[in-house]
Amino acid sequence: MARYTEAVCRLCRREGEKLFLKGERCYTDKCSISKRAYAPGQHGQARKKLSEYGIQLREKQKVRRFYGVIESQFSKYFEMASRRRTGITGENLLQILETRLDNAVYRLGLATSRPEARQLVSHGHFKVNGKRVNIPSYLLKVGDVISVADKTKSSPKIKAISDIAGGKVIPKWLEFDAENLVGKVAALPEREDIDLPIKEHLIVELYSK
Ligand code: SF4
Repeated sequence: MARYTEAVCRLCRREGEKLFLKGERCYTDKCSISKRAYAPGQHGQARKKLSEYGIQLREKQKVRRFYGVIESQFSKYFEMASRRRTGITGENLLQILETRLDNAVYRLGLATSRPEARQLVSHGHFKVNGKRVNIPSYLLKVGDVISVADKTKSSPKIKAISDIAGGKVIPKWLEFDAENLVGKVAALPEREDIDLPIKEHLIVELYSK
């Protein structure tokens, strides 16, 4: 399973935006982007005017990095989104990304960041409809129930995580029973449910070239 393993704060600095990849630290003044708000590398501070292509490319990279998806998987998602008979391609793409299991775990407050959610899922800490699923890219459907594996429920780690992340607002496409740590997909996410600063039309333009 391919994934990015370098320092993740560099990704935020490259995109010039907080991607919230480090959990609690992202909300403190230790956040690298607050200290060094320029791209990493030798030429990071040089001013560059981006071409139209460059703007579209950066938007795609930003979304890929928000969700922790590698290039080949992202283009598969784009294909899936453009093949759908209903909806707008850009919004379909975001809907697919949102319904990944690792993203839903993060949205439910059972992880402090998407990378942490990905790790917890791949270590087998979650079940979907009662069966253990360790594939972070597993796509959820309406009615799917996400629960914490029995052994994990009593672990201090998950308790600490849900205490930290528990205060956050659960999007309306998900339902959450905080006492039993059980979530349910109540509906597919609509564009207004996705609170990320994304201009998805730029990604559609990029792939349409
Ligand atoms: Fe990005 Fe979080 Fe690192 Fe800040 S602390 S640069 S938001 S990953």
